[in-house]
Amino acid sequence: MTKIYPLILSFVTFLATLAGGYTTVKNRSKFGYIAAFSAGVLIAVPLFQLLPTSLDLAAKLNVSAQNVLYFTGLGFIFLYMLERLLAVKKVRSGNTWKYERHSTGGFYGASELALHSFVDGFSIGVGFHFNFQIGMVIALAVIFHDFPDGMNTVAVMLNSGNSLKSSLRMLMLDAVTPVLGAVVSLFVTSVDNYLVYLLPFFAGGFLYLGASDLLPEAHEETSPATAFIVSLVGFLVVFLASRFLNF
Ligand SMILES: [Zn+2]
Repeated sequence: MTKIYPLILSFVTFLATLAGGYTTVKNRSKFGYIAAFSAGVLIAVPLFQLLPTSLDLAAKLNVSAQNVLYFTGLGFIFLYMLERLLAVKKVRSGNTWKYERHSTGGFYGASELALHSFVDGFSIGVGFHFNFQIGMVIALAVIFHDFPDGMNTVAVMLNSGNSLKSSLRMLMLDAVTPVLGAVVSLFVTSVDNYLVYLLPFFAGGFLYLGASDLLPEAHEETSPATAFIVSLVGFLVVFLASRFLNF
């Protein structure tokens, strides 16, 4: 029974990514708002859902809180590493060097996207291994950032002069890999023994994406006050849902 949820939700992430890509092709003006809102959601989900749950679980299993936070740190570093080592390249700009995202969707760009999105889908499945609520929370965090992810993928590809066709090919890669991740998670039942480490690992990854990936993008495309207010709304939605809906 529970196996159907990760499949359905990873299919929703598939649609969210495609919808994001489609929105970019049509109209990118709302990108800053969407990035700000999903940044708020992505920072609040670890703080109010994943970490409290992980710490409760750790107490039951006699695992120290310190170990839970080590894995949170690892999750943060993992996504930071993926982005810096694979998605960003050094380019010459006049007399100096600057860093920018791989724009051609070449091997590195594509592998960062695929690895990251695979982990997204895998984390949804792992969440459902724990329980329905955590599975849903992780799925929502993934769906909320996959929409701007899809927008970004197409924008970066198109802005750097790639054809619409190759941009859409990258979008497809971004959309399909979470579904693969979710399917694989269904077969790896041994994850049940490592939930106390995996959940904080995913929490760290979401913190990175929210604070260091989505917020800077929101800052680039909206005014300071708008970015702050819209991300605060995303943050508060998760906070209030955690507090009052017992969700
Ligand atoms: Zn993602």
